[in-house]
Amino acid sequence: MADVSLRGVKKQFGSLSVIKGVDLDVKDGEFCVFVGPSGCGKSTLLRMIAGLEDITSGGLSIGGKDMTSVGPSERGVAMVFQSYALYPHMTVEDNIGFGLKMTGHPKAEIAQRTAVAAKLLQLEPLLQRKPGQLSGGQRQRVAIGRAIVRNPEVFLFDEPLSNLDAALRVQMRTELSKLHQDLKATMIYVTHDQVEAMTMADKIVVLSAGKIEQVGSPLELYHRPNNLFVAGFIGSPK
Ligand code: ADP
Ligand code: MG
Repeated sequence: MADVSLRGVKKQFGSLSVIKGVDLDVKDGEFCVFVGPSGCGKSTLLRMIAGLEDITSGGLSIGGKDMTSVGPSERGVAMVFQSYALYPHMTVEDNIGFGLKMTGHPKAEIAQRTAVAAKLLQLEPLLQRKPGQLSGGQRQRVAIGRAIVRNPEVFLFDEPLSNLDAALRVQMRTELSKLHQDLKATMIYVTHDQVEAMTMADKIVVLSAGKIEQVGSPLELYHRPNNLFVAGFIGSPK
């Protein structure tokens, strides 16, 4: 587990200023949700925490260590994306363990970590299937399994449920909340869906045009929004 701190974080793409100075503390073990309209910079902010985008200025620390210029694989984070490209020719088991195999982990350890992840995600009966034989929700669980086996201190999710149908989204919300309780890891979860944010978060960060509008618990944001943008955004599920 680890806390994540951002100080004065900015991002420019050429002359386009996308993140305009973000200060944020995500506590150890917290489920923190970034919510905001499309294009406000949620993915960019998450990718900077993951190390997939450079930080133009400002600082980032994870678990008290300065990570501003540290490579993605050294940060103790794992990211789960919206489009979960699994290897179609490999079994679920091999998909989950593939990253560990690439980084030279011994077979027995890969098998053990894969078994733990499969149990957490209820994938045990499906380990010998290929991705083509799975439902959308099961595939997304495999993608989450690939993150879990790396034992990250921080999980980063970028709209992981937006390709799923409504009923499955509701089910996966519950599963992800349960997973958070089981793993007790720090999780940062990006969504443009207010209902997801309100039901899953310990802490919600409302973003608009590259700036934080408000940070608070779901109840705080609902009862004491700082401004009309937050009130309108939290108050109007799509
Ligand atoms: P969100 O995830 O909230 O929808 P993004 O972080 O993807 O928003 O994008 C924020 C803004 O940054 C958008 O205007 C987007 O077009 C721009 N942007 C994102 N990535 C790049 C890039 N690699 N180059 C230039 N502009 C980008
Ligand atoms: Mg995005």
